[in-house]
Amino acid sequence: MTYLSFREVWEAKKRISSFVHPTPILYSEPLSDHTGAHVHLKLEHTHPTGSFKLRGAANKILSLDDKVLKKGVTTFSTGNHGISVAYVAAELGIPCTVCISNRVPKAKVNRLKKLHASVEVVGSSQDEAEARCAELEREDGMTVIKPFDDREIIAGQGTIALEIMEQCPEVDEVIIPLSGGGLLSGIAFVMKSMEPSIHITGVTMKKGAVMHESLAKGKPVILEESYTLADSLLGGIGTENRYTFPMTQAYMDKGVLVEESQIEEGLIFTLEHHKMVVEGAAATGIGHVLHSNDLKGKNVVVVLSGNNIDHDVVLNLLAKS
Ligand SMILES: *Cc1c(COP(=O)(O)O)cnc(C)c1O
Repeated sequence: MTYLSFREVWEAKKRISSFVHPTPILYSEPLSDHTGAHVHLKLEHTHPTGSFKLRGAANKILSLDDKVLKKGVTTFSTGNHGISVAYVAAELGIPCTVCISNRVPKAKVNRLKKLHASVEVVGSSQDEAEARCAELEREDGMTVIKPFDDREIIAGQGTIALEIMEQCPEVDEVIIPLSGGGLLSGIAFVMKSMEPSIHITGVTMKKGAVMHESLAKGKPVILEESYTLADSLLGGIGTENRYTFPMTQAYMDKGVLVEESQIEEGLIFTLEHHKMVVEGAAATGIGHVLHSNDLKGKNVVVVLSGNNIDHDVVLNLLAKS
């Protein structure tokens, strides 16, 4: 079964080319030494918005026709998707309202305001924020830009895989942080279309691993949200999920869960050895790799998905380590 065409990913690459520059891939000597694998880091936190979500958001918004575009866009999000939508809207000069829950960290809220988006804080879960977006669509004619379960979003994230193949064609395994599954579905679809033997691993925090539980149950489930350092991986997958649930089911070879302590370790390791600050969600892959013993000799690409983290969180972790 095909959910997306390969052509849609190439179209996405062309459409977003003025907003999105290819990101570097970095060979990690310290992680390679540690694991016995050849570990490469795909630096998706180096976008101007601090996360890969710029790719999907730009592809979706630029696919709207002019009349619809002028009425503006709205979104609900744990932060990074909202920041990317606001960034693209500001560049295009169209209205943008971002609805978020009160769990979203300060740094992300401040960043949204700087991007001239109007920010509405509604409730304590993503579901409440989503309901408010639907209202804005009905009443003001704004277009809701979904964070993951959308063809253009998935195709946009899939452009990462086109770059990985150019930069590291010897890749055997890709390790991807997993929440709603837009990132994993896009990358995995492209990888498997080009080379079915490439192994796809999805990494989530143990607390609130919604996609993981949903795959185990065979249908989307709802879990309660609790505190995690990987706050960008919080949120449900939608009970009416159309694409990312079946695509993750079809293309992910292995799903792994990491402890909070592993996420901390991943974050500190990246800071210490690469002098790069990434956020908890992005550090899950490193946290997993640091404890894997089945990667020896393989060419592994770890996707570092974002860097929007409050400074005091980093300072506390450093003081503890
Ligand atoms: C959104 C996000 C993810 C997960 O992406 P999904 O498409 O929801 O699976 C991972 N890392 C960061 C930093 C994110 O913002």
